[in-house]
Amino acid sequence: MALYNAEAIVIRTRDFDEADKILVMLTREEGKISAVAKGARRPRGRYAAAAQIFTQVKASLFHGRNLDTLSQIEIVESFRHLREDLVRMAYGSYICELMDEMLREKQRSESVFLLLLTTLHLLNAPEIDPEPTRRAYELKLFSILGFRPSFEECVACSKPLGAAPFVRFAPALGGVLCPTCPSEGEVIHRLSRGTIETMKRLMDGDIRKASILRIAGEMAGEIDRVVADYIKHRTERPLKSKEFLDSLRA
Ligand SMILES: [Zn+2]
Repeated sequence: MALYNAEAIVIRTRDFDEADKILVMLTREEGKISAVAKGARRPRGRYAAAAQIFTQVKASLFHGRNLDTLSQIEIVESFRHLREDLVRMAYGSYICELMDEMLREKQRSESVFLLLLTTLHLLNAPEIDPEPTRRAYELKLFSILGFRPSFEECVACSKPLGAAPFVRFAPALGGVLCPTCPSEGEVIHRLSRGTIETMKRLMDGDIRKASILRIAGEMAGEIDRVVADYIKHRTERPLKSKEFLDSLRA
């Protein structure tokens, strides 16, 4: 069995056999992988401390046919604040679950790894507002993975949209519609030009600066509804962590 090294973030864990855990990890080198951490369920097990969601690690692993197996693991960052605060933990769980849901096994993307790592650092910083950070993360993730919403051109006829004060956004179709194209019975969100501009800024700007963007409550609600709808059309099931996060925010 070939041994390889990876920088990784644990995005999900589950119990396996009597004493082991399976870690789903996003690695910089190999994309999303699943690996067995032997003995990780025992409190003093060799991998117990590292085998937890959010942990950033350096790992050595053996390639396996279905599952890889951990050989060595070293914690780089444990994101302590994120872990100790229920609300921040809910944000962290959500960004990991969304990532997990959107990526196929072994799908490689260094940009996605760096986006997750940067976002975990931001959510771990007490001075950072998690809400705009979460909004930027969602839009950036979709953009990187090839599901970038179209804000400038009509998704049906590719005509540029011009400067109308309001536009129709169809989440199922992947973006905005010009005034002449029919919506084909899809759910339509009527968005102001300002909302579109803010979403573009969140998607293409520096995520480390997202939390200083001032987004008024009404616009924030508009963005959240349209993005939630957009996500719903691109994931196979409702995300449990999102339901929990929404219950905390309500
Ligand atoms: Zn059109």
